[in-house]
Amino acid sequence: MTVISIEATAHHYDVIVGPVEAGIDRIRDLARGADPILVSDVRVFALHGAKIAEALGADPVLVPEGEAAKCWNHLHELLGALAERGASRSTPIVALGGGSVGDLAGLAAALFKRGCPIVHIPTTLLAQADSSVGGKTAIDAFGEKNLVGTFHQPSLVLADPAYLDTLDAGQLRAGYAEVVKYGLIDDPAFFAWCEANGRGLLAGHPDLRRHAIATAINAKARIIAGDIEDRSGKRALLNLGHSFGHAIEAEAGLGTVLHGEAVALGMALAFRFSAEAGLCPPAEAEAVINHLAVIGLPTKLSGVGLANKGGRLADWMARDKKNQPGRVALVLTRGIGRAFLEPAVDSRRLIQFLDAAP
Ligand code: NAD
Repeated sequence: MTVISIEATAHHYDVIVGPVEAGIDRIRDLARGADPILVSDVRVFALHGAKIAEALGADPVLVPEGEAAKCWNHLHELLGALAERGASRSTPIVALGGGSVGDLAGLAAALFKRGCPIVHIPTTLLAQADSSVGGKTAIDAFGEKNLVGTFHQPSLVLADPAYLDTLDAGQLRAGYAEVVKYGLIDDPAFFAWCEANGRGLLAGHPDLRRHAIATAINAKARIIAGDIEDRSGKRALLNLGHSFGHAIEAEAGLGTVLHGEAVALGMALAFRFSAEAGLCPPAEAEAVINHLAVIGLPTKLSGVGLANKGGRLADWMARDKKNQPGRVALVLTRGIGRAFLEPAVDSRRLIQFLDAAP
């Protein structure tokens, strides 16, 4: 078991990477006698929920699987369920599931009675290595990804890699994109580790999984420190591949391309764009694209039906939250482990690049 302490301004919390049982008493302590409320999706609850619900004496609230949960209707229903169960400001909301359940439950916890504690029990690789930490919550709205949300830091995160045994291969691969991202941002040694061990991790080797999850969480903690609310540009590095990725998700239709797949393709595009601009050695861009492809992640727009859609994709990118008016901000790179935020990319150049990209 590994315990990682995260500092988030006036708040600090632990991430426990190891058997979930090790953290159940911590949830009871948080609840101080109140009954926690378990929020999960139908699939995850059927696989893993009963044990947690019983251990916590929690009456579950179930939401649909995947991106479909992140909408006004399910936020409304979830808030209604919290009210019906008489939740107070100290009732812990326990999110058992992937990033979609975590984003929705985190937002509901932030809003209900102006904020109750949220505990994440992430069950996908993406959520264990990335989304359960850092406090971002959101739903999609008006066709746009993560348009409505808040920052609401968790009180505790229990990341049990054993949950990944029931996750299908496509979801696992998609989550791997957010793992390898940490090597690409500022840790070339971790990228080399991913090249050597990525396939073993996906095949289910427990030590490799634990190492990857703990490395990613430690990296996220380091990158968000001092920029918890994503304002100075430091935390924005976590969005490597995401401006392209969110545009890909929106243009394909939210929920059509998995978030992690879109991020992988977005990172391939960020490296290609940087190499074409003379910022990044072409051989390093090749190595990254090659590794993502070997893992089975998409690296070409044509692979997700979005070839020659430069104008449409650039339109979505122009709406990104990191942008200043009239400019497209993009995380680019000078090579593996050397990501940086470019605040003003020329949109005509972006359209040409996207139209010509494979
Ligand atoms: P997900 O939550 O959408 O779940 C994907 C599918 O996997 C669902 O069908 C779910 O039922 C199933 N599943 C989950 N755990 C399982 C398990 N252990 N066994 C079997 N099936 C399981 O997937 P995700 O990739 O974790 O989350 C994607 C979402 O996370 C996106 O909406 C993305 O925007 C968000 N995200 C948020 C942050 C953040 O910082 N808040 C960061 C990255 C991504």
